[in-house]
Amino acid sequence: MLTYAAQFRALEQRVNGELWQEHSELILIAESDNDDGTPVHTTVDSVLLQATESAAPSDYESVVTFIDNQPLYQPRVQDFALLPPDSPETPQVLERLLASHQPQRSVIVPLEAHDRELQVLVASVNVEGDEAQGIFVVANDIGAQRLDLWQSVFTFAGLSVITLLIAGWVGYVVTGRLLRPLEDLRAATEQITVDDLEYRVPVPEERDDIAALAQNFNRMLARIQTGFAEQRRFMSDVGHELRTPLTIVRGTLETTDVEDVSDVRESHEIAIEELDRMGRVVGDLSELAASARPDYVRPRPLDLAGFTRSVFARIEHIAEREWILERSVDVVADADEQRLTQAVVQLAANAVRYSEEGSRIRFGVDRVLGPEGPEIHVTVQDEGIGIGPADQRRIFERFTRVDGSRGSGSGLGLPIVLAIAEGHDGVVRLLSKPGRGSTFTIVFPQFADRTPTELDGPSASAGDTERQGRGPEDDTTTAPRRDEG
Ligand code: ADP
Repeated sequence: MLTYAAQFRALEQRVNGELWQEHSELILIAESDNDDGTPVHTTVDSVLLQATESAAPSDYESVVTFIDNQPLYQPRVQDFALLPPDSPETPQVLERLLASHQPQRSVIVPLEAHDRELQVLVASVNVEGDEAQGIFVVANDIGAQRLDLWQSVFTFAGLSVITLLIAGWVGYVVTGRLLRPLEDLRAATEQITVDDLEYRVPVPEERDDIAALAQNFNRMLARIQTGFAEQRRFMSDVGHELRTPLTIVRGTLETTDVEDVSDVRESHEIAIEELDRMGRVVGDLSELAASARPDYVRPRPLDLAGFTRSVFARIEHIAEREWILERSVDVVADADEQRLTQAVVQLAANAVRYSEEGSRIRFGVDRVLGPEGPEIHVTVQDEGIGIGPADQRRIFERFTRVDGSRGSGSGLGLPIVLAIAEGHDGVVRLLSKPGRGSTFTIVFPQFADRTPTELDGPSASAGDTERQGRGPEDDTTTAPRRDEG
């Protein structure tokens, strides 16, 4: 549109330029000389005749000449006649043309004639020695040219509107089609509530970003659902665990004969024992909750020989057993000394709890070349009651106690040991036979190969290593990873 505005502005300049061009040609004719230096034209008539003959009026142009106010020559072929004999308007036009003539000068004047908007050159023609007054007139139909330009504007505008409409419609259809899967996704997500995490959003068949988004969304839902289920299970486990001692204490107190001193003393002992158990459960629970934190285990280079000595010195005082320090290696490994000690103490306490006084408990730390590099094996072996094959995986789940197991354990000891092993990118292996004893081994890579982000959870490769590392002939059980459910 800006181009058109410029073209309208340029039109008048161009038309005037063309008229002045005609004027220059007229002067050339009037002033032309013969070879001997004498002028070619000695009369006004001769100049006007030559000018009319050589004038080639372009489209929109008309030429007419006058001598002494009488119309004289005009080209035989031209776009329109300025003074058509059959028009009643002609005398008026003639009058106005002559009125605009200025002797000895050439002017360009606007004129409306025969329904045309004209730009007219009125040039005075005089020749020395000739008294006659000549006038050379060129009219240019600027109105028709403006009209042409307007038509072109309307055509262009019409085409632009049609193109815009088509582009808009195509855009509407295309974006509608593109956005429909997103709209479906939005509608689907609105149906999901905390109570209905079963729902999955439909995944479009196309393999594009939206399909990937839907898949990721469904995966996230699955994780949230697992998390919720786990949380519910955890809460019900905790409730169950804490209800038992509370019931015992309450039942005991209710049936106590307060007049009977020995009965009161017995109830007092039971109450203290149960409260201790509750205290242990609560303590272990917060330990287990802490184990979910990424910084629960912080491996640092640890001198294993020193570690083995100090841990052995601690566990051999747990109870009266024949404690044997079986192996020790003089190497450095990436491990969290405090957590690893805690795990060994837990395993040793279990070994004591499930074995007879005077039986042997062996402890050892070894370095073994595994399929993925050197591994550290921390082993606690007892000659106790052992664990049946059916229970060997189960006991690593929280609050699991095998029927007939002794003591008042919280059922959280082994899950904590497992969390510590996994915090070292490791696993717990168990070799046990009922009546023969059990061997618990914490296995982890000697060198932690972890980037900070991997600290967020145990890496998948540890489990893979373990599977490769287990021979088909050995009947070792590996504790299920906690995220295996
Ligand atoms: P608890 O506090 O009950 O010992 P744990 O998680 O430490 O909880 O152990 C879970 C169960 O595994 C125990 O109740 C017991 O039945 C079994 N268990 C653990 N260690 C041994 C072991 N050394 N010998 C035999 N059974 C064991």
